[in-house]
Amino acid sequence: MKFIRKLLIKDYQDTKNPKVRFRYGLVAGVFGIISNALLCVFKLIVGIVGNSITIVADAINNLSDAGSSVVTLVGFKLSATPPDKDHPFGHARYEYVTSLLVSVTVLFIGILLLKSSIEKCITPEAVSVSVYTYVVLGAAIAMKLVQMLIYLDFSKAINSGALKASAADSRNDVLATVAVLISTIVIDVAGDKISPKVSVDGIMGIAVSAFIIVSSILLIKESISPILGEKPPKELVDKITAKILSYDGVIGVHDLVVHSYGENHCFVVAHVEVPQDVEITKSHDVIDNIEHDFWNEMHVRITIHMDPVDTKNEKLAELKLRAQNALANLDEGLSLHDFRIVSGQTHTNMLFDVVIPYDSKLSLGDVKNAMKREFANDHVKYFFVIDVDRKMS
Ligand SMILES: [Zn+2]
Ligand SMILES: [Zn+2]
Repeated sequence: MKFIRKLLIKDYQDTKNPKVRFRYGLVAGVFGIISNALLCVFKLIVGIVGNSITIVADAINNLSDAGSSVVTLVGFKLSATPPDKDHPFGHARYEYVTSLLVSVTVLFIGILLLKSSIEKCITPEAVSVSVYTYVVLGAAIAMKLVQMLIYLDFSKAINSGALKASAADSRNDVLATVAVLISTIVIDVAGDKISPKVSVDGIMGIAVSAFIIVSSILLIKESISPILGEKPPKELVDKITAKILSYDGVIGVHDLVVHSYGENHCFVVAHVEVPQDVEITKSHDVIDNIEHDFWNEMHVRITIHMDPVDTKNEKLAELKLRAQNALANLDEGLSLHDFRIVSGQTHTNMLFDVVIPYDSKLSLGDVKNAMKREFANDHVKYFFVIDVDRKMS
């Protein structure tokens, strides 16, 4: 597969370059549109001539693949469009909208095909199989295998989720067309009606339509999810956290929020803990460097909020550790940050934020009760001022 890259893609080894990425997307997209459109046309012809709803349904399945290729192409093209006056966040989310439109269209076609297939089961019509049917189906399977190999190769070369999904889809289509071929052989040998009431073509038609409906629903879900906003991938969170922590003068990170406006269009907000006895202008300098480095090295806009932390106070560290342990006993997934102590005449306020994961049933009341139990026998009377944070990353 490497020779294809070498032949068709200029500077094919420079995969970090957005222009080269776009060329990969362009070649994959154009190849997908042409090959799938051809498959669709030939299958439609043999399907309609032979009166086979199964082959017509399989043809529509390829039409949806051609549509997905258009989406891939548009996605790569728009991701390469720079932000402008009206859209400072860029245009990469178009990819999700186009993908949504294509999948909704395919869903409707799938439902229509299901209806026709059921009708075909109720009132079967004769199906005829010719040598052309076999030629088209055989060529279709071969073409889908080639697509799968090319998409896989490209997706590995430029690490693209869209192309990886296309490869998986091509693999499913190989299986679908193999099933269609088998049913065609059965019809050819035994006739469409293996019993007076059962139409092989109708049943296979239902199966292929169901396949189209299910995959389009999955695709609809998949395209809506990033529009709503998703939890960022763990690798990205780990990478961002590790990078921030690598700077001298930084002692912790929390409340990390990642806003994604599409592939390679990330805006990040983070709270960074700095020692409170370091001069604020000095810490601000470090923070500024982090912000610049994120933009220059990762093309990520990060905004950082500074949290001063008392690192010299042993009593505070001890109280924090006890609070952390009490939380861990309640639920391993809990964590706290921005821990402070404010002493008064009659009582002492213990203030912190607790992060409760979405899958945890615990409430703020549970956390407060755990704290009251932990510090009940201390000489100091503690009041707990706790804010709940939701895990955004
Ligand atoms: Zn904070
Ligand atoms: Zn600043």
